[in-house]
Amino acid sequence: MRIVFVGPPGAGKGTQSQRLVERLAIAHLSTGDMLREARQKQTKVGRLAEEYMAAGKLVPDELVLALVGERITSPDCARGVLFDGFPRNVKQAEELDAMLAERRMAIDMALELAVDDEEVIRRLAGRGRPDDEPRVVAERLKTYWGQTRPLLDYYRGRGILETVRGDGTIDQVFARVLKAVDKRAGRGGARGSE
Ligand code: AMP
Repeated sequence: MRIVFVGPPGAGKGTQSQRLVERLAIAHLSTGDMLREARQKQTKVGRLAEEYMAAGKLVPDELVLALVGERITSPDCARGVLFDGFPRNVKQAEELDAMLAERRMAIDMALELAVDDEEVIRRLAGRGRPDDEPRVVAERLKTYWGQTRPLLDYYRGRGILETVRGDGTIDQVFARVLKAVDKRAGRGGARGSE
């Protein structure tokens, strides 16, 4: 199964992703993790991405798409992939669809983790990552609202959007996530995940 996970920063995507990839035994493709690793190793991509990340802005599409394009051809992605934090805008979503179509594959579901804006701000305030500084948080939220949220319409239009509420305990949220995944898999969403 190939799943796109969408939600604002601080929604708990990271935690839920870890659990979900374990449960479904699929690859976890987090562009945020890949970019942080590239930054830490000071690769060319990492150096180019740095300033955007520090400012809470999206790293240019070409850089991110190159990373993803390389990764999805790796054998661990054959069984299925959870795309976490990617795509972040409609352009990336279109490019992802095209990349997958070349391999006769498609996204089976987009999973939205929905959290109120006030709650997001409250959660991010307690996290302590360098890009969680208030000014950067505000910018990341603006980026989410302006560029990433339109993705929900993109996937809704394709009839593959499932929304789960992100409030409550980690276990409660995970139960909702699994229910949404089961629902989708039951409709043939697991097709092609051999
Ligand atoms: P994340 O851990 O997913 O919140 O990502 C941290 C930062 O990495 C973001 O604020 C962006 O600067 C950058 N980033 C991660 N994924 C993407 C993406 N798909 N497109 C552009 N920038 C990204």
